[in-house]
Amino acid sequence: MIEMIESEILDQSPGISWDDIAGLEFAKASVMEIVVWPMLRPDIFTGLRGPPKGLLLFGPPGTGKTMIGKTIATESGATFFSISASSLMSKWIGEGEKMVRALFAVARVNAPSVIFIDEIDSLLSQRSEGDFEASRRVKTEFLVQMDGVACSQEERILLVGATNRPQELDEAARRRMVKRLYIPLPDSAARQQLVTHLMRNQSHDLCEMDLQEIANLTKGYSGADVKALCTEAAFNQSVRPINIQDFKNALRQVRASVSDKDISNYIEWNQQYGSFP
Ligand code: ADP
Repeated sequence: MIEMIESEILDQSPGISWDDIAGLEFAKASVMEIVVWPMLRPDIFTGLRGPPKGLLLFGPPGTGKTMIGKTIATESGATFFSISASSLMSKWIGEGEKMVRALFAVARVNAPSVIFIDEIDSLLSQRSEGDFEASRRVKTEFLVQMDGVACSQEERILLVGATNRPQELDEAARRRMVKRLYIPLPDSAARQQLVTHLMRNQSHDLCEMDLQEIANLTKGYSGADVKALCTEAAFNQSVRPINIQDFKNALRQVRASVSDKDISNYIEWNQQYGSFP
């Protein structure tokens, strides 16, 4: 199991920095203050000022939650473990519980560590009645391990959970992820920054005004949607430089993937449970 963790879950080179992430200034500043500095200087941040052991990143899919998890590891010099909760539940049928225990043990040996769990709602959801015995045991083991980490002052392990469905988390899960940051859709400035960044190595003849127009036309697009749009627009690139018309054509193919209704649900959950500066 240790071997499996090291080959499949341990991410050797997250290598992502804040500069790769467009927008999200509030989230970046909060993450530095709440988790990275305390991880770098555990001698200063002690007792009540000790780093939180659980952080939840929630918001629509494709907005940079995974990127933030990786950046935390890069910035804090921590070992990065990354696994999706659904693969933990399905791939290790019958072994999930042992797997969770082994994962935390390996993280402890390699501390400081960041354990990133994608789709954490499927691991810690409140729908427990119909749950299979096996998945209930995995959930229990996971909560036990998190409590172990939370109780120890010197254990430098941070659990980062990401979810598109924060509403599914129960009270036990929320309590263990004390800091909860909303990762929203990119605003216009962030979308422009992202398009500029994605186009930097491409041959194109987009001027500043074109880039602004693209940013205006992509209201409601997630970062992943903007990336898909750029890929679509670059389709003819081998023949000639990418231009604004390519983007206008691509806009008809690649639409925003998140609905307004979803967004209002996130905002509501954020107001009730989110962390603010
Ligand atoms: P999720 O929020 O679902 O974890 P990811 O972090 O995996 O989303 O982002 C998916 C892809 O979308 C990234 O690999 C990146 O290319 C792009 N992306 C999303 N948000 C951003 C952002 N804020 N800045 C730069 N790229 C982004």
